[in-house]
Amino acid sequence: MSTLTITRIAHSSVLIDFDGQRVLTDPWFSEKFGYYHGEPYGIHLAALPRLAGVVVSHDHYDHCDMNAFQAYPDKQVPMAVKGGTEQKARRVGFANVFGMEAWESTTFGPITVTAAPGKHGVPEITYLLQANGLTVYFGGDTLLIPALGEIPQRFGRLDVALLAINGLQIRFLGNRQDVMNPQDAAEFCRISRPRYAVPIHYTFTGGPIMDKLALKYAGTPQALLREFQQAVAKLAPETTVRVLAPGEPLQVTTGGDGGGQGENTGEL
Ligand SMILES: [Zn+2]
Repeated sequence: MSTLTITRIAHSSVLIDFDGQRVLTDPWFSEKFGYYHGEPYGIHLAALPRLAGVVVSHDHYDHCDMNAFQAYPDKQVPMAVKGGTEQKARRVGFANVFGMEAWESTTFGPITVTAAPGKHGVPEITYLLQANGLTVYFGGDTLLIPALGEIPQRFGRLDVALLAINGLQIRFLGNRQDVMNPQDAAEFCRISRPRYAVPIHYTFTGGPIMDKLALKYAGTPQALLREFQQAVAKLAPETTVRVLAPGEPLQVTTGGDGGGQGENTGEL
C-alpha cells in the first residue's frame, strides 16, 4: 500500500508527498504591492522538507518566486519549468533546471513527471506526477483548453487534481479571462474524473487598488469554493471535492489491487 499526501501551502504552492518523496509546485514565498496570498502559509519556506523536485508552471512572480526560493538550501534539486523560462531559477543558483514542453516526461527519483498543455497570459505548462500507482494533476493556473481532454486518454483516472478556480480576469485587457473559474474546473473534473479535486488559487488578492483597477475574480473565496463544490456535484459526481486549509493534509491511499480508498484527515 502506498500513501499520497497533499498539503496546500498557499495559492498554487502545494507539497505533494509520495511516501516521503516530495514535490513542491509553483513556489511563492514573499509578497509585494499588488500580490498578496490572502491566506497564511501552510508551511513556511524555512520549514520545507527535503524535496525530490520542484515543478513550475510559468514565469509569473506568484508562481515562480525565485528571489525568495533561493533560500532553499539544496541547489541541486531538480526543477522542471516551462521551456524558455529556465534562466530565472539558474540565476539564483539552481543548477538542475530543465525546460519542458507538453507531453515530455522526466523523473524526480521514483516520481515520473510529465508536462501537459496549459494556456494563460504567458506560456504555461501543467504537470502530471506519478509514483506508486498514484497520479496527481497540477493545473497551475491554466484556462480550460481542449488539449487537456487528452489527459484521461493518456493517464487513465486521476487520483487527485489540483485546480485553480478564481477565474482571474484582466480589466484593462477587456476583462480577458486568464485562469479557470469554478465551472471550468468542474468541467475538467467531468472530463478527467479525478477521485479527488482540491481547489487552489482562490484567495489571491491584488489589494484594494489593483483589484479595483486591474484584476477581477469570479467571486469571493467562499463563493468560489461553494460554486466549485456545487458544479462538481452536478457535472462530476464521481469526484470528491476536498477543500484544504493551508497546512491541512489530504491523504490518499491505494492498495496493491489497484482499488483505491481515500481518506481526509481534516474537516471540510
Ligand atoms: Zn500567472
